[in-house]
Amino acid sequence: MKNNFPPQEVVQTKIILNSGKEHSLKRFHPWVFSGAIKNISDELSEGDVVEVYSSKNEYLGTGHYQKGTISVRLFSFSQTEVNDSFWENKISKAYQYRKTIGLVNNPKTNAYRLVFGEADGLPGLIIDFYNGTAVMQAHSIGMHLIRETLANALKKVMGETLKAVYYKSVDTLPKIDSLIVENAYLFGKPETNEILENGNKFFIDWENGQKTGFFLDQRDNRQLLSTYAKGKKILNTFCYSGGFSVYALNAGASEVHSVDSSQKAIDLTEKNILLNQSDNTNHQSFVADTFQFLNHKENVYELIILDPPAFAKHRNVTHNAVMGYKRLNAEAMRQIKSGGILFTFSCSQVIDSNLFHNTITSAAIQAGRNVRVLHRLSQPADHAVNMYHPEGEYLKGLVVYVE
Ligand code: SAH
Repeated sequence: MKNNFPPQEVVQTKIILNSGKEHSLKRFHPWVFSGAIKNISDELSEGDVVEVYSSKNEYLGTGHYQKGTISVRLFSFSQTEVNDSFWENKISKAYQYRKTIGLVNNPKTNAYRLVFGEADGLPGLIIDFYNGTAVMQAHSIGMHLIRETLANALKKVMGETLKAVYYKSVDTLPKIDSLIVENAYLFGKPETNEILENGNKFFIDWENGQKTGFFLDQRDNRQLLSTYAKGKKILNTFCYSGGFSVYALNAGASEVHSVDSSQKAIDLTEKNILLNQSDNTNHQSFVADTFQFLNHKENVYELIILDPPAFAKHRNVTHNAVMGYKRLNAEAMRQIKSGGILFTFSCSQVIDSNLFHNTITSAAIQAGRNVRVLHRLSQPADHAVNMYHPEGEYLKGLVVYVE
């Protein structure tokens, strides 16, 4: 029998803001802070779709509601029905953008960030694509609740290119009793764990690895490293799965040392080296704390990479983080050979590029070395920053020449 009922509409609850709190939303900033809200209905549940209105009852946007400092994450600034085709259209736009920047059907690179939260108008959602497998990570309850819809949208948009969707949100969602979260495949079975990045091979362990399995955000910076690596003795600290080490060896580095405090990371590094090199005689790895490892390494390395984890996750610990970056960089600058090159990074969102630059300057002063800046680095185009959401900028890097 034919069903003649109209499609069921998703009920969208209304949230009203206090007077004057509409300005940032009118400039397309996608967050509503709890203090901006005048009324929240008792009926609202975490993850619900809500429409946000000004105190004068003007429509401002639609988003996911969640308890906490950020109460609504907006995914639309025009009034619309939020149904399956809405999400499909979002994923399709994200995919189209990656096509535009040359990451789809690229013979040298088959791994990229397909959805970067706010930048793709999908706050609370990250999707990384690894040669057929999409790893989806929800940071908001709203995105968690629609994971199946999103997986279906991915299937529709990517077709045969997509072999599997792995959902990995146990560590990224808030811990609340009513929320049952499991890391699991939502669809398909991966055909391979191997990816290509600028022609370099990597094994990606998305099930057990850190984050979604790989730090795709360093792609362009690793490529830049290739241009400096030939014939050099290189130290790659905080190496994780050996991204910079693999590029360095493939580009003809004479020797590479990789350091990470995690044995699992070092195992991945060694696996990745052997995936690219017939033997590993010019590579050595060390399970060690970088700060300790750098002691007594005077005049050994011609190029050093410092890519630590975020030292500051919150603004109130910024000062300590700055001191940490300064100490680390000063030590590397003290030890590096004369005429050496330092690739140094910070992925702490609360440390902006100016503060990072100033911190590296004070490290240079402390080390007593003459230093000049060769490159200022940032995030690649698949992690591009939404101009209306500057908070999306997190990765900063400097390449400096140490005399
Ligand atoms: N450069 C990597 C990503 C680094 S992630 C890449 O291109 O893929 C940060 C890494 O630092 C993690 O693997 C973590 O295990 C390691 N780590 C954290 N603290 C450390 C320390 N004190 N010394 C050495 N490694 C550390």
